[in-house]
Amino acid sequence: MTDCPKKDENLKDCNCTYSCSKKGRCCECVAYHRSQGEFPACFFTAQGERTYDRSFAALQKYHRS
Ligand code: SF4
Repeated sequence: MTDCPKKDENLKDCNCTYSCSKKGRCCECVAYHRSQGEFPACFFTAQGERTYDRSFAALQKYHRS
């Protein structure tokens, strides 16, 4: 698979601290979390992101405005 042409640009705004091959590949990241009924790291505050809980319940508590 070829790498995402926007990966470097995407990484500038990525707040995810989890070690993950999808980092910077936002379409893969969103599709993965959507398939799990979850949300990507960039929807969460730094505090919420570090819990690695990407659920809707966590999003309600730790959503970025
Ligand atoms: S939000 Fe999830 S899929 Fe996206 S880079 Fe972080 S751990 Fe990986």
